[in-house]
Amino acid sequence: MKKHILIVPGDGIGQEVTTVGKQVLDRIAEKFGHEFTYDEALIGHVAIEATGDPLPEETLVKMRASDAILFGAVGHPKYDNDPSAKVRPEQGLLRMRKELGLYANLRPIKLFDELLEASSIKPEILKGCDILFFRELTGDVYFGKRERLDDGNTAYDTMIYSKYEVERIARKAFEAARTRSKKLMSVDKANVLESSRLWREVIQKLAPEYPDVEVEHQFIDAAAMLLIKDPRRFDVVVTGNLFGDILTDEASQIAGSMGMLASASVGDSTGVYEPIHGSAHDITGKGVANPLASVLSAALLLDISFGLKAESEAIIAAVDAVLKAGFRTRDIANSETPADKILGTDAMGAELLKNL
Ligand code: NAD
Repeated sequence: MKKHILIVPGDGIGQEVTTVGKQVLDRIAEKFGHEFTYDEALIGHVAIEATGDPLPEETLVKMRASDAILFGAVGHPKYDNDPSAKVRPEQGLLRMRKELGLYANLRPIKLFDELLEASSIKPEILKGCDILFFRELTGDVYFGKRERLDDGNTAYDTMIYSKYEVERIARKAFEAARTRSKKLMSVDKANVLESSRLWREVIQKLAPEYPDVEVEHQFIDAAAMLLIKDPRRFDVVVTGNLFGDILTDEASQIAGSMGMLASASVGDSTGVYEPIHGSAHDITGKGVANPLASVLSAALLLDISFGLKAESEAIIAAVDAVLKAGFRTRDIANSETPADKILGTDAMGAELLKNL
């Protein structure tokens, strides 16, 4: 298979982890006889520094011309501590999602048995946990009208959803539920919010079209509690942008670390595959970032955008093998991990390649 992949490392540890992700894609191409070509593009803080724009036109053109995008992260402490900055790295990310019509964010929470101890939740509560989140990505309070009033002393953001936005992500989640345990949990705040009442109405209206899928509705506050109390109760979950953002970060603790979780953003055009973590400036340049979320993002890319299931599974099996052999990056190590098994980013990449 011939495919063109755009690497968009972005900021902070984005560069370090996508380097390993690309090495893994290269090895897969070699092993399975595919031809992957690559290009690179700027986004976020590095793009602002180079062009003044967090999503330069050249990057968008390259994104539209590629078959899939392996993405790193955006963000820089300079902006985190300056709420008044008009141009910000995250604007690049949000505009990319909107421009490419990436309305569905898939976040599989897959727990590797070897990391049961790395989680702060008890192993007996976690074992066997396997969740697939569908977070809506181009609507909600992140894209609604926002404003400062009253000389800057009052501010508002608008939580807004249209029926078609809810329906298109809900259909993806219903379809996925069909291929798994046939259970779908929809998370909203319909007891308080009008946009959530619309959300629930759409899900209820669609449900008869999927009679084989059992639908459960949960309020976001209850879902946040249940996720820690009984994570195995969750299978396919569909929720809005804000609730999904928070709930999936919470769920990252099930997997032991942010450094283990991959995501896929898909919709109308090229799919974007990225770790759920940010640019992690506290560890940037130290060579200690966990590259496995980027590697697992590459596995999702092969599966979802190219339909290469065996290739994707080969990557997951290699991650499993490396963890079984006892290798850990610092974020997933514990006090019992022998010092010679704690690897940096590049060394973890090298171990993975050996297993591929
Ligand atoms: P973060 O995910 O960057 O880091 C949170 C914590 O997890 C840090 O202690 C970090 O060291 C650790 N961590 C994250 N990824 C890791 C990895 N691969 N290996 C080892 N440890 C890892 O979140 P934050 O600190 O809240 O945000 C930092 C910047 O990233 C901010 O500017 C924020 O806006 C941005 N951000 C970007 C995205 C994105 O690009 N999609 C997502 C979240 C945050």
